[in-house]
Amino acid sequence: MAHVKHQKWWGWGEEGVFFDYRNKPAFAPFVKEAIGVSLRPRQRDTVDFATVQVPASTASEDVLARLRGISGPENVSLDDELRIVHWAGKSVLELMQTLRSDFARVPDVVVYPGSEDEVAEILRTAVAQDLVVIPFGGGSSISRSLQPAPEETRCIVSLDMGRLNKVLEIDETSGLATIQAGVLGPDMEDQLNARGWTLGHFPDSFAYSTLGGWAATRSSGMQSDKYGDIADIVRGLRLVRPSGTVVLRPLPSTSTGPSLREMVIGSEGRLGVITELTVHVHRLPQEHEVIAYMFPTWQQALTAVRRYTEAEIPLTFARISDAHETAFSLATQKASTSVKGKLAAKGQDALWAVMRRRGWDTDAMCISYACFEGSAKDVAERKKAVARIAKAHGAVVLGSGPGALYDQKKFDTPHLRDFLLEQNTVGDVSETAAPWSKLTTVHKNAYDAVQRAYAQLGKSGWIMSHMSHSYHSGACLYFTFAYVFDEENPYEEYQVVKSAIQQSFIDSGATLSHHHGVGVEHQPWMEQDVSPEGVALMKGLFQVADPGGNLNPGKVV
Ligand code: FAD
Repeated sequence: MAHVKHQKWWGWGEEGVFFDYRNKPAFAPFVKEAIGVSLRPRQRDTVDFATVQVPASTASEDVLARLRGISGPENVSLDDELRIVHWAGKSVLELMQTLRSDFARVPDVVVYPGSEDEVAEILRTAVAQDLVVIPFGGGSSISRSLQPAPEETRCIVSLDMGRLNKVLEIDETSGLATIQAGVLGPDMEDQLNARGWTLGHFPDSFAYSTLGGWAATRSSGMQSDKYGDIADIVRGLRLVRPSGTVVLRPLPSTSTGPSLREMVIGSEGRLGVITELTVHVHRLPQEHEVIAYMFPTWQQALTAVRRYTEAEIPLTFARISDAHETAFSLATQKASTSVKGKLAAKGQDALWAVMRRRGWDTDAMCISYACFEGSAKDVAERKKAVARIAKAHGAVVLGSGPGALYDQKKFDTPHLRDFLLEQNTVGDVSETAAPWSKLTTVHKNAYDAVQRAYAQLGKSGWIMSHMSHSYHSGACLYFTFAYVFDEENPYEEYQVVKSAIQQSFIDSGATLSHHHGVGVEHQPWMEQDVSPEGVALMKGLFQVADPGGNLNPGKVV
């Protein structure tokens, strides 16, 4: 079988890597207070696959023979565990369904093509034999963009892009790299870094998501303030379709009609398979430093970050945790055993005392981070400019210690959801973007909406938020919510909570998703987001592009 790295079938990341709360002394009391759960130590290191009931494959011998003829028998799999790995992404609803063997429909076969020609032949076969093809990158979708429709009766092929994982070429003069779509984040960065370059795109899912998946879902990484969203980063691409290949050459800009590049970005497999992309790459920065600031209130922090943008200070990212998320961050700090760590903890106590003396309400304060990259001189100047604005809005500069901690923790948090599920607790996210003038309202309305949803369900729950990804005209707000779920009725109550937040975004003038795409999860709000006529236009496009509905049908609209 093709050697492609996969996540554990039942949760996030690789087997053997977990969230552990026992080295974070403040975490269990925090969870008890926030949602009333007394944490139990983790019971499962893994889940026995033998407990899973996998629907039988319906792939016919004829179809299998054709696929084996194209990609080789060793790259075509009917293995049950691989079919479950490929059946869905990692949204919390999908994780719950997976753990309950609640599979309406799973891919009948997984294929690992080794070239663009093979992808093209698989797509032609799919149309000729009326198969459904679902492109698969890292399987980190969080909007249910991989799950087959429950009522699908045709043979479903999961087309895993994992063998197409090479950086093909770097045009050093133009700062462009041509890269195969199936490469996972770390593998791609290793190949680029070895030659002194970086893409600079680091979503929280970086370790288990691919360049092609990022483009297909309109992804955004945590350093997008400097490097751009994936839609800015991708300059050219190749989209393989059953009828031919769309070739978009890498151009700095063009005025040749409506943007085909923008049309493919975010298409979630509905227009074809992206096999290659040409992307902006940057020289590795000489310096990379994250500085933390503590603001007395959310509003002051938000205004300060807007002022950084207005002042056009080149930042790699600026992020603010609201008061709830600040409390959560402090609760997930590891207990330090080193002398240095103990001194740092003492320093923190002293800082708290200062804040109380200044009259701060410590329940309202918000931690914020700014990341600086460039030469030592650039970094020093920008740090000074940001500190000036931050202090003018009441902040205390905490320095680089907590900033380094943020950089270390950033890819660990996704493991928390699996641990919480084991504690009968849903921990999930909703994210949006809105103009600066509306951000305060969006934030407040999401909090109010989720509290109403919790009240409707008769439970107490948690919500917290951070601001990330600043733009000229606004920013992204990212909400995390948590509550204890009812074993009898987990899906319906999840919909109540998630829908309340999504609807509040739309009602407050924000978008239904800033970087998680649409999939199936966000579809109910598409007409409200882009207007009914907009949805009709998209449906028309997909109908013409894929009249047989063979390409990941049912996603986006
Ligand atoms: P997959 O999940 O495999 O596929 C996603 C969609 O893209 C599917 O519709 C699939 O058919 C299609 N697709 C994949 N590859 C191709 C291709 N080559 N051609 C055509 N279609 C293709 N997203 C962010 O943007 N930023 C974040 O910070 C972030 N954090 C996350 C954290 C967690 C814990 C989780 C679970 C998800 C997070 N996501 C984030 C969402 C997810 O990682 C992104 O949507 C990501 O872009 C998906 O990439 P993937 O390679 O895993 O694609």
